[in-house]
Amino acid sequence: MPKYIDIHAHTNFKAFEEDRDAVIRRALDNGTWVINVGTQLDTSRKAVEMTNEYKEGVYATIGLHPIHTGASYHDANELGEENKEFFSRGEIFDKEKYKELAKLGKVVAIGECGLDYYHMEPETIEKQKKAFIEQIELANELNLPLMLHIRNNPTDKTHNAYFDVYELIKKYSKREEIKGVSHFFAGNVEDMKRFIELGVYISFAGPITYKPKPEICDYISVIKETPLDMILADTDSPYVAPVPYRGKRNEPVYVREIIKKIAEIKSLTEEETAEAIFANAKRLFDL
Ligand SMILES: [Zn+2]
Repeated sequence: MPKYIDIHAHTNFKAFEEDRDAVIRRALDNGTWVINVGTQLDTSRKAVEMTNEYKEGVYATIGLHPIHTGASYHDANELGEENKEFFSRGEIFDKEKYKELAKLGKVVAIGECGLDYYHMEPETIEKQKKAFIEQIELANELNLPLMLHIRNNPTDKTHNAYFDVYELIKKYSKREEIKGVSHFFAGNVEDMKRFIELGVYISFAGPITYKPKPEICDYISVIKETPLDMILADTDSPYVAPVPYRGKRNEPVYVREIIKKIAEIKSLTEEETAEAIFANAKRLFDL
């Protein structure tokens, strides 16, 4: 029986082209399940295809990342240099295409979707909101949870992406029981409590293993106060590897370091924390 789950990885990205299968096997052999997250149509398709290559333990989410709704973002780790021109145009969310994709494999959530205020320009934010609302509607239709990407701009305290996401979900999610998870959580205790009340889980990533910088995010207080039955963990591989792998390419099997840290902060054993997180993921994603 697996014990660990990385609820947000991108082994579907170009960064894993050379050894993708070895990375997944390493995770599965170590009792770690993986959810690969799509960021636009092509990375979503790759994530879905991968679910059919393994009997169990590999799942996908499909969606359009807020950054990919606009122009001028490109990361070679994602799909490679040759896709540069395609990237720079930005993608318009096409609900029907994603709906088709959902039928082709083990799709467990819609996203990553949400709001990214890191590079905040009014026109970009409008595009992000439109794509996000359409993905909330798709999640309603398919009865799937939301995989949320939320990022604030640390130099702009007048806008809070966590609050704006909360309001949009409340307004557009038609389901009785709202379901979702805020991956790579970096909000404050208030943002966390608002989400918990709504039914949105809180997932922590590699930075919780770094030296605390409470002026940027007070992870310790947030983790202490997040109920154990609403916590998840994610690597966001290939990015932001936890200590002691910091600086290297991240991979799903490292999720254990994040879970260890959550256990330490909550004064629990690694075993009971891992068990709770695994049970939470099974419940949220209906695995
Ligand atoms: Zn991601």
